[in-house]
Amino acid sequence: MLARVHTFSIDGLEPRPVVVEVDVRPGLPSFTIVGLGDLAVRESRERVRAALGNQGFELPGRRITVNLAPASLPKGGPGFDLAIAVGLLAASGQAPGVDLAGVAVVGELSLGGIVRPGRGALVVAEGARAAGLGAIVVPREQRDEAGLVPGVAVRAVGTLREAVRALGQPGRDDRTPDAGLPAAPPDGPDLEDVRGQALARRGLEVAAAGGLSLLLVGPPGTGKTMLARRLPGLLPAMRTAEALEVTRIHSVCGLHDGAGLVAERPFRAPHHGTSAAGLVGGGTVGRPGEITLAHRGVLFLDEFPEFRRDALEALRQPLEDARVVLVRQGRTRTFPSRTLLVAAANPCPCGHHGSSRCRCGRQDLERYRRKLSGPLLDRIDVHVACPRPSAAEIAGAPAESTAAVRERVAGARAFAAERRRSTGPRRLEADLAGPAAERLERAYLGETLSARGRARVLRIGRTIADLAVSDRITGDHLDEALFLRQHVARDDDEAVAA
Ligand SMILES: [Zn+2]
Repeated sequence: MLARVHTFSIDGLEPRPVVVEVDVRPGLPSFTIVGLGDLAVRESRERVRAALGNQGFELPGRRITVNLAPASLPKGGPGFDLAIAVGLLAASGQAPGVDLAGVAVVGELSLGGIVRPGRGALVVAEGARAAGLGAIVVPREQRDEAGLVPGVAVRAVGTLREAVRALGQPGRDDRTPDAGLPAAPPDGPDLEDVRGQALARRGLEVAAAGGLSLLLVGPPGTGKTMLARRLPGLLPAMRTAEALEVTRIHSVCGLHDGAGLVAERPFRAPHHGTSAAGLVGGGTVGRPGEITLAHRGVLFLDEFPEFRRDALEALRQPLEDARVVLVRQGRTRTFPSRTLLVAAANPCPCGHHGSSRCRCGRQDLERYRRKLSGPLLDRIDVHVACPRPSAAEIAGAPAESTAAVRERVAGARAFAAERRRSTGPRRLEADLAGPAAERLERAYLGETLSARGRARVLRIGRTIADLAVSDRITGDHLDEALFLRQHVARDDDEAVAA
């Protein structure tokens, strides 16, 4: 007898329909799985065999062939277990009353027959909707995640036996009414906790308001990581569509707990040893990288100069285009990567540049500066120093809270959106007041600014003006923009010259 079960394979971030065909016929007892599965798919046999026995079913002593169609599509992971087991039970007459038409089945099985959560329940539910299937059987833990997709009934199950029962209950829908509503983001770490660092705080505010990238330079232990962690909290709450994007990515990459929408903007801090593929994605299955995991949030690269050159180089295009294009084995996959980059660096190899503790020679310093001054660094908008806070700053009153800064950021973003609506697309130069235009040209002609640096300063100046709710970029705004772009390099020049 032949049974067919609908399920899905995940290709990059996309669902691909797969039909599990199970054929049970007389012959020498055997159990074969075909259809371009990876090792985990082939091992499915052993899990299904044990799960059937432990749930009170029988593995028929006949010739069993399982085909995952289409055979041309590579398939990976243990997520086909439940579909194979259910198909086997239907084909061997052990599941009378199940209706396999119009239902997708997904889940991994333990040897005891427990249905375990896997990757990508949201994507699979989206696939079910696109394929016109009305229901999906998922692991119990992923009920709310699958329930984010309207129009697909969710049957959440904990065991193989329960899955068989659920397949005989056509009207069953376990969704909860409010699963798809975006939750308020939980309170993250607060800016109030950061003492001193007035300049870096301003840098964070400007970066959040303008969607600009940020470099923090300072000795170890001055709170660069602390500051970076507080950037997601300064951004406005994600809209539902944005939260869905993040949930989809995190679910496929196994970072989601199966609850509803991700409410918090991501913060990713990969180690400096991470490869190019780790940062931007890759591998034979086309796995998303850290920059995609940081989509709609913050990608923090601590010890920026220690990252591999090729890895940083690979980040350049995705940061500019807000998407990663991967070509693997003739297939092209595109992943979103709209993220704010925060890089952090020590001012010198030993980290104590500018104090008597620094033991770096002139050559060490020059080599380090060359490492720091790569083409990617030039593309980071705001550069600020994070010096060691003074005793007075540490003992002083708490500074502004995240909520207060977030309000100004939201105001600047709203002002910018309104400004763009009323003026339409135009060059930022048009917004420069007379003195600001003069100062910008002076810096450019004085060769302290590259052409790229000039464009960055304009964007910073425009953001500072937006924070001040000003249509024009004034001389003061531009001065601050030049400072936020140049003071780190200038301090360093003076130190090297000294
Ligand atoms: Zn040093």
